[in-house]
Amino acid sequence: MAEKTPHAHGAALSEMDIRVRALETLLTEKGYIDPAALDAIIETYEHRIGPHLGARVVARAWADPAYREWLLRDATAAVAEPPDFGFVGRQGEHLVAVENTPGQHNLVVCTLCSCYPWPVLGLPPAWYKSAPYRSRAVIDPRGVLADFGLTLPADTRIRVWDSTAEIRYLVLPMRPPGTDHLDEAALAALVTRDSMIGTGLARAPGAGVPA
Ligand code: FE
Repeated sequence: MAEKTPHAHGAALSEMDIRVRALETLLTEKGYIDPAALDAIIETYEHRIGPHLGARVVARAWADPAYREWLLRDATAAVAEPPDFGFVGRQGEHLVAVENTPGQHNLVVCTLCSCYPWPVLGLPPAWYKSAPYRSRAVIDPRGVLADFGLTLPADTRIRVWDSTAEIRYLVLPMRPPGTDHLDEAALAALVTRDSMIGTGLARAPGAGVPA
């Protein structure tokens, strides 16, 4: 299927792209899928669902102790039920929130493939799906965190959570100091995607927005 020699046209397509396109064309021709419906799903996950939703969950947990307790007890319900959240989407049906503390830092991986809490974080970043991250997160989590520029105190335990098709994890990062005066919206702005995977921390106020 793949050309071994340089190809003069369509060079931007990888073998996987070609396979996906061929499959989509075939399924469309046979009437099994509607391209417009596919586009709507992709649009939803690319633009409407993303880590800004998870950031709102984290900010509320920081601001509201009762909500935090609910999130840690039953994240699936705590994320789905509040009317102003009402997140929808696949791959988050059984969500578990794990809380970072001074004594324990949580890191999420899917060693098998790329399971990820889509409704709260959107689509996973490419590195999350990469073989080096998936294997090293388990073998050498401290080394992986160092690659992300994150060095934790030596006495902070790192717990690695392996996602599956049934259970997806959301890290509840520690609330940065100096944020007592901030409301939920301002708190949410400090919550990065990586801080909810465990490869980063929440930003300190005034620290600027990383690229
Ligand atoms: Fe997976």
